[in-house]
Amino acid sequence: MRNNKAAASAVRTVTVLGATGSIGDSTMDLLRGARERYQVEALTANTNVEALAKLAREFGARFAAIADPDRLGELKQALAGTRIECGAGESAIIEAAARPADWVMAAVSGAAGLKPALAAVDRGAAVALANKECLVCAGDFFMQRAAKAGACILPADSEHNALFQALGSGNREELVRVIITASGGPFRTWAAADIEQATLAQALKHPNWSMGQKITIDSASMMNKGLEVIEASYLFALTPDEIDVLVHPQSIIHGMVEFSDRSVVAQLGAPDMRIPIAHCLGWPDRIVGPSARLDLAKIGQLTFEAPDFERFPALRLAYESLRTGRGATTVYNAANEVAVAAFIAGQIRFGAIARLVEATMNDWIRSGNLAPLSSADDAISIDHNARNKAASLLPQIALKAS
Ligand code: NDP
Repeated sequence: MRNNKAAASAVRTVTVLGATGSIGDSTMDLLRGARERYQVEALTANTNVEALAKLAREFGARFAAIADPDRLGELKQALAGTRIECGAGESAIIEAAARPADWVMAAVSGAAGLKPALAAVDRGAAVALANKECLVCAGDFFMQRAAKAGACILPADSEHNALFQALGSGNREELVRVIITASGGPFRTWAAADIEQATLAQALKHPNWSMGQKITIDSASMMNKGLEVIEASYLFALTPDEIDVLVHPQSIIHGMVEFSDRSVVAQLGAPDMRIPIAHCLGWPDRIVGPSARLDLAKIGQLTFEAPDFERFPALRLAYESLRTGRGATTVYNAANEVAVAAFIAGQIRFGAIARLVEATMNDWIRSGNLAPLSSADDAISIDHNARNKAASLLPQIALKAS
């Protein structure tokens, strides 16, 4: 075991992008428990001035940035009497990421998280990556930029963090496959016809995790697992055939790695995002986490099932998008965002979410528009075009029964 004394006594500077969100909240909770080890450099939010200012004051941040350019006056007022610098607009979020913090949590939601995360990556920081879009929309390009700058990408998503921890048990040549677990969501045991008609309230009843609305609906369709397969492929340079999904309703094992000697190394923990975030925050050491200790005797049973690609076509489409490459994963994600918004607005049935994604992907492949991504603007442009295409296909998908 390592001797951690020297590392544990050094103060690290940290920045939290998306500090007012669910991942941001868990991160700030961990920082609150270890104030002597961390100095907050910058905090950001989209529109929530009040929560941002409260956190910036509490943690004595050096810089606070709000994405909404119209709220700069409000933020300045909320921070009056402090020495905290303020900024507003997209450029201020990028500036927050570019400031010299040792460690950055990238937890802005959506494609807006890509440029700020790249700003942290480009200066070679340790970047805890929660934002999925960085990898799903621009994975190859994002990882190349990280390698070039010597940035360390620490996966904050629980499954990828589990793989990150387990992968240390062997080398690339010895790796056979990784296994990402999935709770199966609220419709795990439902018949296809019932999933087709599922309501918003039913889709929002996640059995294990407490998360935002979008990611909870993605868990119900297993689109979230599809996004995670794509993330794993880019993060760890794995082919689609090297990534398996295993349904594990208790969500205690988050990821496993199988090696050539047939050893399978797993990471276990309660379904609490503070556990993977604590691993990223302490890395390469470990901090004392506030989460509940795992009591396997109390849990009693861990069960497993093969995923059903027929009832959950979103998972099949994730593998197809990876095999297609050249921006297809960007299209997969963008079409899903349009579909989920339409489902929430009552415009389409639950079953139509995956149909809209498939129709958008097929249209994209037929159009021959697929091309390797060479910049963040490329990814954002494909994302934008795919959203428009999905929106234009929406009326015909809404009319079509399964
Ligand atoms: P939330 O919606 O709870 O929070 C998003 C954060 O980003 C907020 O601080 C929000 O500010 C800010 N934000 C939103 N839009 C913009 C924008 N355009 N520009 C700048 N800042 C913006 O999301 P989560 O914390 O749940 O998720 C964050 C990311 O992590 C997502 O990509 C998600 O997929 C991923 N993730 C989440 C998990 C979870 O358990 N929640 C698990 C694994 C990954 P404001 O508060 O002002 O709106």
